[in-house]
Amino acid sequence: MLSTQTQLLRLSQGQLNLLERCPRQFQHTYLQQLNSPLDPKYQEGQTLGSRFHRLMQQQTMGLPIDSFLQEDAQLKSWMTAFADAAPEILTSANSEAFRDSEHYRTLSFSDYLLTVIYDLLIADNSKAQIFDWKTTPKPPNKRYLEKNWQTRLYMYVLAETSEYPPENISMTYWFVQSEGKPQNIKFSYNTTAHEQTAKKLNQLLTKLTNWLERYQQGEQFPQVALCNKACEYCQFATRCDRDRTQTSADVISVANSASNIDNALLNLANIQEVSL
Ligand code: SF4
Repeated sequence: MLSTQTQLLRLSQGQLNLLERCPRQFQHTYLQQLNSPLDPKYQEGQTLGSRFHRLMQQQTMGLPIDSFLQEDAQLKSWMTAFADAAPEILTSANSEAFRDSEHYRTLSFSDYLLTVIYDLLIADNSKAQIFDWKTTPKPPNKRYLEKNWQTRLYMYVLAETSEYPPENISMTYWFVQSEGKPQNIKFSYNTTAHEQTAKKLNQLLTKLTNWLERYQQGEQFPQVALCNKACEYCQFATRCDRDRTQTSADVISVANSASNIDNALLNLANIQEVSL
C-alpha cells in the first residue's frame, strides 16, 4: 500500500487552483520549477502570516505564547482582536472535542494523492469544523472564495476520510487583520456540493493525466486564451510570448469583462498554505 502511494503525484489546493487557471503555468511552476524570487513585500507578508500561524498552533497545543506576543506588537494586536471576536475558538467550551492544529490529511484519488493542511480542526460527536487563518488585508468576495479549491478540496477530503456526513462539515476562514477587526466567512457543506466537487475533480484530473502523458511525448501544457487577463500578471509572460507589449488594445478591451474574476482568483492563489 505504501509503495503504491509513493508513486502518486501529490496535489494541494494551490496546485489545483493553478492548474485550473492556466495549465501552462502549472507546467512551468511544478514540472519545470521555473519560479522567480518572491517580491520582498509579498515575502514580508508571508513571514508575518507564518508567525501568526505558529502562534495559533502554540495556543491550540496549550503552550505559552506570551513571549511571542511581547516581541511582536503586530501579532499581539491580531491576537487580542481575534480573542475578542472568537473567544470560543481559543477556549473550547466542549473539552471532549478533538482539536488539532496544522492537521494533515491525504486522499488517494485516481492517480493522485490529494493533500490538505487544516490550520485548525475541531470535531465532536456531531460536527467537524475546519478553520483557516488569513492575514491578507481584505477578505475576498464570498462567491470567489467558494469557488477556490481550498474551500472545495478541504471539505471534500474531510468528508471522504471521516465518518462525518457532508451536512455536518463546515469551513470558516478568519481574516485577522481586515480593516482592524477580524472578520470571518463560513461555508456549510452538503451532499450536492460534495458530488459536484467529486465531478469537478474527476474532470480536472482526467485532463491533467492527459496533459502529463502528452508532456512526456514533448508536448507542452495548454495556454489560456490570448485575451485572458492572467497573462498580464504572470511571471512567464515573456516565455509564453504574452508580455504586455504584445497585447493589443482590442484584446485588453475583450479581457476587461473577465478581469474581475481573474483578478480575484489570482489574489486567492497568493493565499498560500503555511507549512510549519
Ligand atoms: S503567460 Fe499566460 S499562458 Fe503563459 S503561463 Fe502565464 S497565464 Fe499561462
